[in-house]
Amino acid sequence: MKNKLPFTSTILFKAVTSHLLLFSAFFVWNLKAFLTHEAILARFSVIYVSSLFLLVWFVSRISIGLNQISDQIDEFTEKKYTVRKQIPGHTEINHLYDKVVNLGDRIEQTQETLESSSTRLNGILTYMTDGVIATDRRGKIILANAAALEYLNVTEKDILSRKIIDILDIAADYTFRDLLESEPELLIDAENATGEFTTLRIKFALFRRESGFISGVVAVLHDVTEQEKNERERRLFVSNVSHELRTPLTSIKSYLEALDEGAVNDPDIAPGFIKVSLKETDRMIRMIRDLVTLSRMDSDTIILEKEVINLVAFLHYQLNRFDQIVGNRDEDEKQFKIVRQIPLPPIWMEIDTDKLGQVIDNLMNNAIKYSPDGRQITVNLEQTNTQVLLRITDEGMGIPKTDLPKIFDRFYRVDKARSREQGGSGLGLSIVRDIVKMHDGFIWAKSDGKTGTTFTLVLPYTTLETETDTIADDWVGATDPH
Ligand code: ADP
Repeated sequence: MKNKLPFTSTILFKAVTSHLLLFSAFFVWNLKAFLTHEAILARFSVIYVSSLFLLVWFVSRISIGLNQISDQIDEFTEKKYTVRKQIPGHTEINHLYDKVVNLGDRIEQTQETLESSSTRLNGILTYMTDGVIATDRRGKIILANAAALEYLNVTEKDILSRKIIDILDIAADYTFRDLLESEPELLIDAENATGEFTTLRIKFALFRRESGFISGVVAVLHDVTEQEKNERERRLFVSNVSHELRTPLTSIKSYLEALDEGAVNDPDIAPGFIKVSLKETDRMIRMIRDLVTLSRMDSDTIILEKEVINLVAFLHYQLNRFDQIVGNRDEDEKQFKIVRQIPLPPIWMEIDTDKLGQVIDNLMNNAIKYSPDGRQITVNLEQTNTQVLLRITDEGMGIPKTDLPKIFDRFYRVDKARSREQGGSGLGLSIVRDIVKMHDGFIWAKSDGKTGTTFTLVLPYTTLETETDTIADDWVGATDPH
């Protein structure tokens, strides 16, 4: 940093040279007098030497002082703020030195304030969950925080100095001028650093200098994927509900109109029309009941009423009901065989029996609904140290692999017509999944898509120290009657 001046440029050199020139001129001018009067020459020489000595001494002090000031400024430039020992004296040089030291103090304080606010700002930007991108007044990116880089799956190097409209991929719809003029709010699709597809809401704001001059734009990126998904699902749900309710209502209306127009007096048609209308009404009631259950679950107004029961007896009790239903079926109705693979020792668990009963009911009803006549339904119960696994396997039509991940979605049906014909609402499995979740368990289905489906329900299990005789419920002691 230090630039050593050549000696010929120093004030000492210039002062000594000027002094010499002045005295030389004076000497030449009075040459005659000096040559004739030796005493005058001697006095002249004494004055010359002593004034030169004084000059050198004085100018050197000034020079040392200036050099010290220059060195001190160099150190300030290198952010070294320790002050050197001051040169003695009370001249303008000392005064100037004091001012330089003062200036250094100010610079140091400003530097500290700037650094601490910049550290604070960096900390805030780094730990913000929203992404922030700032540009210069030409729209070129000058700053991006960690969240913005993560949302857009880019590195700082990739985007610095590049145009913001290119990085956000909005150049087809907006120019940088549009951003400045209307500060729009946009939704864009992006792929984040973990490869997930996200929806980002971007708000733009101008930032200006104190003079009012626009220095650039700040874009704030907020991940609204979840919000958008919920909104989409809500819209889809409303449209599904309207559609699902309209279908049976339209059919009931047309039967009622036919009856109104005279069919009521036709004993061959009227009972059939009334039967269909009742069936459709039942379906609507079932659907509304399911919708109410789901909406209660969504709003968390359902609380589990858990009690300690013997799961083995509980399961036998539920299956005995199905055995009875199957046994009471008419000859022309589909027949089934329910095979139980349930261990003998009791399994004590704390569950909401109403809700879990609903789960078993739904899975068993589906197994019956989607299987042809004469098939077998196997119910298998297993217990490990930490889990209880209930499997319900049928030999029905199966579920295509591509549909498997979606069957627990609301209103999802593999074969819409068939499900409707069976009186299904498409909500059963989504209620099942929600109830199982409320019990901290999980459920999935497996099928080769041709024959048979297995639903596996897993519930967490811990050994309970419970006396059987403290529990008096319908299913205590229920066993396999076969
Ligand atoms: P639904 O009221 O239509 O039965 P669910 O939510 O209970 O509605 O089931 C959703 C869809 O999953 C059904 O429409 C059906 O296509 C399929 N499904 C459910 N259980 C079975 C099963 N055991 N075998 C074949 N398909 C099934």
